[in-house]
Amino acid sequence: MSKVGETTLVLDLTALEHNYQYLQSKIKPETRFLGVVKAFAYGSDMVTVAQKLEQLGADYLAVAYVSEGVLLREAGIQLPILVLHPLASNFDDLIANHLEPSIYSRNILNQFLEAAKAQKQTDYPIHIKFNTGLNRLGFSDTDVDFIAEATKRSECIKIVSVFSHLAASEDKNERNFSLNQIKSFENLSKTLMDRLGYAPMRHMLNTSGIINYPEAQFEMVRSGIGIYGYGNQAEIDAQLQPIATLKTIISQIHQINANESVGYNRAFTSNRPIKSATLPIGHADGIGRQYGKGKGFVTINNKKAPILGNVCMDMIMVDVTEIDCKEGDEAIVFGPEKSAEKFASTANTISYEILTAISQRVKREVKNK
Ligand SMILES: *Cc1c(COP(=O)(O)O)cnc(C)c1O
Repeated sequence: MSKVGETTLVLDLTALEHNYQYLQSKIKPETRFLGVVKAFAYGSDMVTVAQKLEQLGADYLAVAYVSEGVLLREAGIQLPILVLHPLASNFDDLIANHLEPSIYSRNILNQFLEAAKAQKQTDYPIHIKFNTGLNRLGFSDTDVDFIAEATKRSECIKIVSVFSHLAASEDKNERNFSLNQIKSFENLSKTLMDRLGYAPMRHMLNTSGIINYPEAQFEMVRSGIGIYGYGNQAEIDAQLQPIATLKTIISQIHQINANESVGYNRAFTSNRPIKSATLPIGHADGIGRQYGKGKGFVTINNKKAPILGNVCMDMIMVDVTEIDCKEGDEAIVFGPEKSAEKFASTANTISYEILTAISQRVKREVKNK
């Protein structure tokens, strides 16, 4: 087998294209597609993914913060970019980079009006976010008049979309809650559009929303996790292809005698002779300590190697007693064969968390550019 080298997150753009086309097949031809690339494109490679989405014909991108949007502009991305959580202190940067703010409160609307005026903007595109039950960010029904009055009074801004976010789109038991959110969004956006006298785009669905509430596509959908190959339910996972494979190698193999311990705090003590392998990946790379003590495992030569004892900053030790392997062999943390969702579940978390946790120290390699 060829040498793998250092710990690497390999990104397969053919898989990304497949996922994009799959999601497209779930929406009407006229529905626009916004690709969510926040948090380094869910821990992958933000610029690479944004470029690919631009090339594939996505209509919009979204990031969480202004600094993320600035990185995309610096890399030459031309698509409109929605900033989901801008803060007033970043408005000048936002405008300078032609990023489009989500406006979610009276306070942030007033502050943005001031910034847009100071920068002598006309019809600067903004997106109005309604809270319909997630109770995270967003205006409520009592704010509609305020939004309409404030935007009609000012030449500086123009509402290009109205949106909201589902709280439990992946949870079939919360179907009534989600349907109520959709109904309330429809009513809020209608009232606002009547007051404005024009019709901005409306959007509400994330990846699981696209799958479970196709009737609520409105004019655009916003997908993040689906692009990266995860669908929050087994039937959808089966249709998607994880774009990222996290792999590393065996640095050293040790024979451990009965009653010897492995790693910090002697968190693992063996009751029999075993064989351990040390891998150059640890909690500084995103493998949290919650994966330690036998919960998380890597795959070596198609066999399961559970983590022994505590996860160190730069290393883990795994049990390879039953595995025919040698120093230099490859170890897979997650990938298409053993999904990040499955790895995450060993520590009671979700694909979103492990994917976005992979630190910038881990080398990125892009396949099929
Ligand atoms: C992150 C995010 C999304 C993407 O959600 P997925 O479940 O990853 O598709 C969509 N909309 C908003 C407002 C978000 O914060």
